[in-house]
Amino acid sequence: MKFSYVSHLQCPKCNKEYSAGVEHQLCECGSPLLVNYDLEELRNVLKREDLLKRKPDLWRYRELLPVQREENVVTLGEGMTPLIPMERLGADMGISNLHMKDEGIIPTGTFKARGAAVGVSMAKELNIHELAMPTNGNAGASWALYAARGGIKSTIVMPVDAPKITRNECAIAGANLYLVDGLISDAGKIVAQTVRDQGLFDASTLKEPYRIEGKKTMGYEIAEQMNWKVPDVILYPTGGGVGLIGIYKALKELQTLEWIPQGKLPRLVAVQSDGCAPIVKAWKEGKKESEFWEGSETIAFGINVPKALGDFLVLESLYETNGCAVAIDDESILEEQKQIAELEGAFVCPEGASAFVAARQLREENWIKEDDVVVVLNTGAGIKYPDTVDFELPTLQPGELINKAEVFIEE
Ligand SMILES: *Cc1c(COP(=O)(O)O)cnc(C)c1O
Ligand SMILES: [Zn+2]
Repeated sequence: MKFSYVSHLQCPKCNKEYSAGVEHQLCECGSPLLVNYDLEELRNVLKREDLLKRKPDLWRYRELLPVQREENVVTLGEGMTPLIPMERLGADMGISNLHMKDEGIIPTGTFKARGAAVGVSMAKELNIHELAMPTNGNAGASWALYAARGGIKSTIVMPVDAPKITRNECAIAGANLYLVDGLISDAGKIVAQTVRDQGLFDASTLKEPYRIEGKKTMGYEIAEQMNWKVPDVILYPTGGGVGLIGIYKALKELQTLEWIPQGKLPRLVAVQSDGCAPIVKAWKEGKKESEFWEGSETIAFGINVPKALGDFLVLESLYETNGCAVAIDDESILEEQKQIAELEGAFVCPEGASAFVAARQLREENWIKEDDVVVVLNTGAGIKYPDTVDFELPTLQPGELINKAEVFIEE
């Protein structure tokens, strides 16, 4: 049996086809390329039960990933993150069946590890020795570390405001790290120029076709963990939108394989910050593409993307599944983050918290029904953003006793 059932790459805009196994960036027409598989053939040789005896990481879906030779797999054990029932938080929101897919429990602490694992493995397979990318922090951190593991050099450019820990991750992995006094879009322009001048491989979001293949495995896992019954609603904090496009792609592939029921897919929800909500604006206006969001700003750094290359694919996934797009303010994000920690013991990242706020609001509007099965993606660990938590502490002198009445701070 083949390691991968990859067949070819195809442009979702102009349908032009490209062969697998050779280096590609964007389509001639400027659109990102998507990877196709021989699903009809695979359906006859692989049964979903066959997965049960495999390791609990994303390579359990190797036939549905683009890497063709096992020796090129670069892994740190990423994938099969827990799907956790959130009963107390759900009760508080009035949702009886609320789950969190927790991507905080993965190497590098965010789901970016999935894209990096598959992207870097493909870079290795294609004999790429050096790559470059702009990042809001988490992707750069994951790619720098996975590139190190794969023996590939990396050049990373990130905004000075990106979470400091992500700088450290790049630095300790030996990446060439540059800070830019601007946004990810400014970092992107610098990388594009460097790529042209120095012939590096451009690993920017969706400019290489394989990161999305790693991220789509969140969709496979949700289906497998729910015993191949898909939820009613999936909420996802959306920046570049690769995770959402990936989950949508994964679910459609599973339908073709007949591993999940035909017909209705989960309603997908793109959650953004109201300080950077280009997808939400486009969705509200019924548009097929978004416009650049000027002066974007939010504490949820991973979703601060003023214009996504794959915006038209994100919007398509919302329209096709009867989903929606919601913008959340930073204050509500921080409140929800605290609520989740207090009620569930989970320290989620601000991006993840935004998706929980969206679930709460959509339930209030009755867009989510009481007994809908709801999955929220927590895309990263709260401990990667220590500075978002703000509090004061009483300090004791040695030997001083605790007077509870004084110590407990009321807000
Ligand atoms: C990158 C990132 C996102 C957004 O992911 P996309 O797939 O690019 O939309 C969400 N949350 C966190 C923590 C991230 O790092
Ligand atoms: Zn094209």
